[in-house]
Amino acid sequence: MKRFCYRCGALEAERGPLIQGLCQRCFVAENRLLHAPTEIEIVICKHCGSRLVGGRWQKPEGKGVSADAVRESVLREIRILQLTDSSFKLVRPEQVSGLELGIEPKLGREPLVEIRARGKMSEMQLEPKTEEAKIKIAVRWTTCKVCALKRAGHHEAILQVRGRIPREGLAGLRRELEALAKKAGEQSPTMFIAKIEECRGGLDFYVSSISLARRMAALMKEKFGAKISESAKLIGVERGGRRKFRVSLLARIP
Ligand SMILES: [Zn+2]
Ligand SMILES: [Zn+2]
Repeated sequence: MKRFCYRCGALEAERGPLIQGLCQRCFVAENRLLHAPTEIEIVICKHCGSRLVGGRWQKPEGKGVSADAVRESVLREIRILQLTDSSFKLVRPEQVSGLELGIEPKLGREPLVEIRARGKMSEMQLEPKTEEAKIKIAVRWTTCKVCALKRAGHHEAILQVRGRIPREGLAGLRRELEALAKKAGEQSPTMFIAKIEECRGGLDFYVSSISLARRMAALMKEKFGAKISESAKLIGVERGGRRKFRVSLLARIP
């Protein structure tokens, strides 16, 4: 029996193997390889330039929207049609072998990205299909979690440095503590000094996390021979019932 395309009647013997009852030409015409949204939203913190990727904030790699950021977002959002075991699936581009993908960000006044995909939807397909799509880039400027905390002056601990310290000594000490906090912040962005206040006989550091404040106190002990004392004050109860404390650390330099 001669097999033929149910759509156009082309004979399998002449046009090559049928795929799901369609000749090569009709199969390619009927099915879309590249599935892309019309618009992609890129969320950026207007204060620090961090970008929201898959629910997590990522450090900025430059100012504004970079071509790499757009490429990455596009790769997350687009899908490729694949026929396996007689059922169609939409899969991520990296799961498709032999797929050629061109992603061309155009970052002008109305940013968009042009995509060109070339590949096969089925192993039975003799020639790859080429498709193009345009995606609009919508940039949403917002405030990331860390910047919101910083702007609210959030602090879990206060480190009070006291003692008879000459002015230059105090400035040097402040630099060292700021350097320590900066380093900690690079590893964990929720660690920062929210505020520094000069007061008679020393400095007050308002610190975002208790563990950072303790590390700062340890540095004072190690480098300046400070005596450390710690006290905690209950400042409230979190929704889950966990009690919240504000810790005060006193570093007294002899
Ligand atoms: Zn056909
Ligand atoms: Zn931010």
